[in-house]
Amino acid sequence: MKLEDVKYSRPDIVGFEAAVKAALISMQGLSDYQEFKTQFLAVNKLSKDFVGAYTIVSVRYSQNTADKFYEDEQNFFDEILPQFQKSSTDFTNMILDSVHKNQLSAEFGSQFLDLAELARKTISEEVMPILQKENVLVSEYQKLTSQIKIEFEGKTYNTSGMAPLLENTDRDYRKRASKAYYGEMLKNQPEIDRIYDELVKVRTEISSKLGYTSFTQLGYDRMGRTCYGPYEIAEYREFVLKYVTPRAHELKKKIAKTLGIDRPYQYDGLLFPDGNPTPKTSPEQMIADAQVMYNELSRETGEFFNMMQEKGMLDLLNRENKSPGGYCTYVDAVKSPFIFSNFNGTSHDVDVLTHEAGHAFQCYCSMHFELGEYYFPTSESAEIHSMSMEFFAWKWVDKFFLQDTEKYKLGHLMKSFLFLPYGVSVDEFQYRVYENPSLTPQERRAIWLEIQGKYMPWVEYDNEPFLENGGRWQNQGHLFFSPFYYIDYTLAQLCAFQFYKKMNRNFENAWKDYYELCCTGGSKNFLELLPIAKVSSPFEESGFKATVEFVYGEIENIFTTFNQKAQA
Ligand SMILES: [Zn+2]
Repeated sequence: MKLEDVKYSRPDIVGFEAAVKAALISMQGLSDYQEFKTQFLAVNKLSKDFVGAYTIVSVRYSQNTADKFYEDEQNFFDEILPQFQKSSTDFTNMILDSVHKNQLSAEFGSQFLDLAELARKTISEEVMPILQKENVLVSEYQKLTSQIKIEFEGKTYNTSGMAPLLENTDRDYRKRASKAYYGEMLKNQPEIDRIYDELVKVRTEISSKLGYTSFTQLGYDRMGRTCYGPYEIAEYREFVLKYVTPRAHELKKKIAKTLGIDRPYQYDGLLFPDGNPTPKTSPEQMIADAQVMYNELSRETGEFFNMMQEKGMLDLLNRENKSPGGYCTYVDAVKSPFIFSNFNGTSHDVDVLTHEAGHAFQCYCSMHFELGEYYFPTSESAEIHSMSMEFFAWKWVDKFFLQDTEKYKLGHLMKSFLFLPYGVSVDEFQYRVYENPSLTPQERRAIWLEIQGKYMPWVEYDNEPFLENGGRWQNQGHLFFSPFYYIDYTLAQLCAFQFYKKMNRNFENAWKDYYELCCTGGSKNFLELLPIAKVSSPFEESGFKATVEFVYGEIENIFTTFNQKAQA
């Protein structure tokens, strides 16, 4: 079935609640496992259908925000979702307390139960009103930052529209753009400080009501981290400091030299003197080239991409009334993942075709699971699929970048490498903030400067008050809407680097491991997935060191050849 042929009808929430309630009562007294399992799967199917209807509504509404029908349906779901969640939670709790739990675990794997057990710890009747307060604060932040308008040389930009300006090849232009951007951020700083301060206090209150000693562990539990905790992450950050920071510092100096800059400032994020790489063909051509790429990469990716196209599961081009941004989701009625994006002619479009398609391909490979809970893994694992696919695509990226291909590859490696110290800084900052929730906003910003000085000693600000007073993290939305998420990007990057290393040695074998990982989906936790992918754990020092040194060696080699060519 194609996406456009899916018939939607509004689900009956009252009927759903009644069915779950009936199942709950009948299952509690059941001694027969087979009968228990049959009812468990039946309720699972009801939930899947409910979520499926909701997905259709949000997909169709994002495809056309002028569609009144789906706008009303979206509002309907916003209203009834708490009821659905309440029913689902009651049902899950009954499963967790049931005598058949171990047998379910033996048959379907323990991961969905482990995740449910963690999720149960993160919520209670008592904290419901405070959770609502947390949501209100997150919305306030999102509203505030999306309304920030930057006037610059006769044009008005929003915060994400400023990013390309800061990569302009004219240094003085970049400096002026930076002034305009951070000047505007400074005006909003008191309000951002206030929102974050309240968030920290609200989250601390929630965690203490739930019996946690600080918000940190609650943040980890919300992320579904069943196999590592703050202690492992603290050690891991030390590895970054020890092995990545010195190399990244060296790299920063090399880049500055090619840019002809003695002291790089915040507005010198440019990687190449003649500009960062851009795709050279039309959006339509890029999609056609992606189809060739996936058909050549492997049989499975070919079938996947052809199916996505045939079923109308790629909505990538810009169109009037589409909602902004991009995402990847699963549509049960079509039995396929779906990718949504708004192509804009930058290298972001290529990321959609490689990174987002990596997420979608993993989901496609995991659809064989009976439990929908296993279609996507927890986020540090999910980013391995997407970030590794970016590297598998290297063999074909010349189709998109033409003369900029070498530049793209070098830039891709350098950016990924330089990201690691920033990623762990964001993590350590949050750890410090939640360990001591009574800090003032000024004290928090001072802590940011201290942490940044440790992991990124090269950072210098050119008399920019917003940054010099420690505001750098305040436009990083994750700290507000998804605390402790950020470290996941760095963990996955370490794993993706290992895939890069493997594919350089033997492409076929690397692909086999990757495919195996995709087919395991979310049925296992992060540390259990790593041996399946045949990559070492980022928490293991010697493997970490070897990966970082290999990648840095690659960067040095490509860097040298690239600059020799550029000079010749
Ligand atoms: Zn991703």
